[in-house]
Amino acid sequence: MIPFNKPPYVGKEEQYISKAIRNGKICGDGEFNKKCQEWLEAYTGSEKVLLTTSCTSALEMCALICGIGPGDEIIMPSYTFVSTANAFVIHGARCVFVDVRPDTMNIDETLIEDAITEKTKAIVPVHYAGVGCDMDVINEIAKRHDLFVIEDAAQGMCATYKGKILGAIGDFGAYSFHETKNYSMGEGGAILLNNNKYIELAEIIREKGTNRNQFFRGQVDKYTWVDKGSSFLPSEINAAYLWAQLELADEIKKDRMRSWNMYYEGLKILEEKEYISLPYIPDECEHNAHMFYIKVKDLGTRTELLKYLKERDVLAVFHYVPLHSSEAGRKYGRFSGEDKFTTSESDRLLRLPLYYGLDVEDIGDVIKCIHDFYK
Ligand SMILES: *Cc1c(COP(=O)(O)O)cnc(C)c1O
Repeated sequence: MIPFNKPPYVGKEEQYISKAIRNGKICGDGEFNKKCQEWLEAYTGSEKVLLTTSCTSALEMCALICGIGPGDEIIMPSYTFVSTANAFVIHGARCVFVDVRPDTMNIDETLIEDAITEKTKAIVPVHYAGVGCDMDVINEIAKRHDLFVIEDAAQGMCATYKGKILGAIGDFGAYSFHETKNYSMGEGGAILLNNNKYIELAEIIREKGTNRNQFFRGQVDKYTWVDKGSSFLPSEINAAYLWAQLELADEIKKDRMRSWNMYYEGLKILEEKEYISLPYIPDECEHNAHMFYIKVKDLGTRTELLKYLKERDVLAVFHYVPLHSSEAGRKYGRFSGEDKFTTSESDRLLRLPLYYGLDVEDIGDVIKCIHDFYK
C-alpha cells in the first residue's frame, strides 16, 4: 500500500522532545519555541515570527490584529481549506470568493479589484501547492484600497515569488505545521509579522490578551489583562519536534523535489497526448514540492482513476470542495463574478502520494499505474 501522506520524521525528534522535558519547561516560549522562531525569522526575513497552535490560529490572530468584525468583507479564493474562511467568519466577517486561475489554482489577481466594496478589509491569497500567487499585483491593489494582505502560506514554507519567501510578502503570513505539510510539529503553525507595528499587539493576543511577554522582558512591572486574546502558544514538546525538521529543511525540500520531478518526467508523455495536464509553475516562482497533482478530463474520469489506483494499492485523493458551494460557504459568503474555473477545475484535480522519504520504486509504480489506466 502506498499511502497518500506520511508525517515527516527525520530521526532527532525524540532526542529534542526528551531535551524539552528535561529542560523543566514544557509550556510555550522555551528553548525550542525560540530556536524555531529565530530560524524562521532568519530564513524568511520577516520582522517577527511567532509559533502558534495551528495555521488556523495564526489566521485568527491576523483577524484579531486587523480588528475584523461583523459586516467586514474578506476577499479569498473559494478553492481553499475551510480555515482560510473560518478564521474571519468566526469574528463576524463575510467571505467574498474570487475565481481561481486555471493554471495555478491560485486566486485570479485580475478579478480582485471587482470584488472590493466599502466593507472590504483584507485580501487573503492562498499559495496553493506551494506555488506563489501574483503578490506584486495583489500588494499594489491592497495599497491603493488601503486593505490588509494576509498570506495563507500554509502550504508555502520554503517557496518563493520573485526571490521573496512566501508568507513574508504581505502584511502577515500564516504557516501550517500540521502533519500533512512539508514541515511538521503534529499540530502547529506560525504567524509572520512583516510590519513591526503589529508585533506588540500580536504578542498580547497570543498570550491570552496579557502583557506577559513584556513582563518577562522587564518592560512592565506587572503582568495583566490588556486586550482581547486567546491561547495561541504551542507547547515546547511540539516545538521540539519541529526543530528537528527545520535543521534539515533543505534536505526535506530536496527529497520532495526529487519525487515531484520524477512524477513530472514520468507523466509528461500523457500530457503531450492530451490525456492529462500537469502542474504549471510560473517563471517568477520557485515551489517547494508541497503537492503533486494532475488534472484529468472530467469528474467521471477522476472517479474512475481514483478507484483504479486504489485497487492497485495507491492512495490518491481529490482536494477541496469549493467553499461557495458548501453549506457554510453559502451562509457566510458570496461569489464575486462568475465561477468559470473554481468548480470545473477542482473537479478534474487528483493528488498523488507525496511525502518526505517517498520511495523511488513506489513513485515508479504510481506512474506505471496511471500509464496503464490510459492504455
Ligand atoms: C493546512 C491548511 C490550513 C490549516 O492549517 P492548520 O495548521 O491545520 O490549521 C489552512 N489553509 C490552507 C491553505 C491549508 O492547506
